[in-house]
Amino acid sequence: MNFIEINPGNWFYNLSVIGFLKALSHEKSKEKQEVKITDDGRVLIDRSIFDESQSHPGVPEALVRYVNYLSEGESLEDWFKKGKQDKRKKYESLYNQMGEFGYRLAMAFNKLFRSRTPYQNMVQEGENLEFVQFVKSLKQISEKDDGERCGICGKKWFVQTNISQDLKDRLFRFASVHSSELGPSIGEFPNSFWNMSTSFFVCPFCVYLIIHSHLAWIELNEPRGKKSIFINAPSFKVMWYLNKYARTIYGREKIKEVRQLLGISLVELALRFNIQLGKWTMMNIEAVVKSGNGISFFSLPYNTIELLLDRNIASSLYEIGSTNVLNWVLDGEFDRIMREGEITFRENLEKSDSKMLSYSQKLFHLYTLIMERTKGGILV
Ligand SMILES: [Zn+2]
Repeated sequence: MNFIEINPGNWFYNLSVIGFLKALSHEKSKEKQEVKITDDGRVLIDRSIFDESQSHPGVPEALVRYVNYLSEGESLEDWFKKGKQDKRKKYESLYNQMGEFGYRLAMAFNKLFRSRTPYQNMVQEGENLEFVQFVKSLKQISEKDDGERCGICGKKWFVQTNISQDLKDRLFRFASVHSSELGPSIGEFPNSFWNMSTSFFVCPFCVYLIIHSHLAWIELNEPRGKKSIFINAPSFKVMWYLNKYARTIYGREKIKEVRQLLGISLVELALRFNIQLGKWTMMNIEAVVKSGNGISFFSLPYNTIELLLDRNIASSLYEIGSTNVLNWVLDGEFDRIMREGEITFRENLEKSDSKMLSYSQKLFHLYTLIMERTKGGILV
């Protein structure tokens, strides 16, 4: 099997996969496509992504791209100057093996594994090369019937690797090094996939995916502190696009309300893709929200999602472009759309304000579309 096939799972796994895809897709147009997201929502990863890179022998291609992603726009000279340590000397062995790229790798690893980083102490300074070897070994990963089941993906992935027992203990036992938010409070985690135990096995493949998980959060800067969201769904295709849209919409319009952000992302999805989602998929689209209080979940009612994903309704909402109107749809207060249309129409009839009259027509049209959809017995 040349491809490693992955299916959507729990939200933390999905978050990690989307982060991984984000880092990989960063460098555009390699001749071959190593990763495919299928229409039915799976991801196929070509094992060759773990082959040694042509530009940096000894380092797997996937890691080269991740290092490039993490160190993009950074100057090595500036990095050397920062801090008291002589980094040239400190990372000499990496330099001897990989040339300049070795320093970039150290820089990238410092952003992942050192103090106050997302995976603090997962890999220690002296273990950088060992970790590179570990990533390279992922090409040979296979499922082993009598292996231990992974608490993240539920599979029994196994790979032969020569890393030290110390490093193995840190990589393959779930703890705070994998996720500073979830690790320490794992016993309290309500979802059954966490096994309700303080520690569980994390398979080699998930280890590599997890170190990308922080990339998938969309950070919303709020006056009352930081908040991040991730849109979770039972299809990687749906997740890939919804999160992409949510990120762009937030960047463009600074919409901070999770409900609206999710709503507009669904509208964009309907407009850009003629996508037919099953009921089960729609019912399981949710926003995972990370804030100072921990993790919470937000979802829209199935009926609302169905309306937003209706291409005609989506395009009407998009044309109207009003947050108020979107809110009424999200609240199921459809009559208000009608009323707003009537008021606008009456007020602007005498003035013959054609722009506002056309706006009122758009509202009537949206109302009609929603009624047609709901009276068809779809909404109760
Ligand atoms: Zn796993």
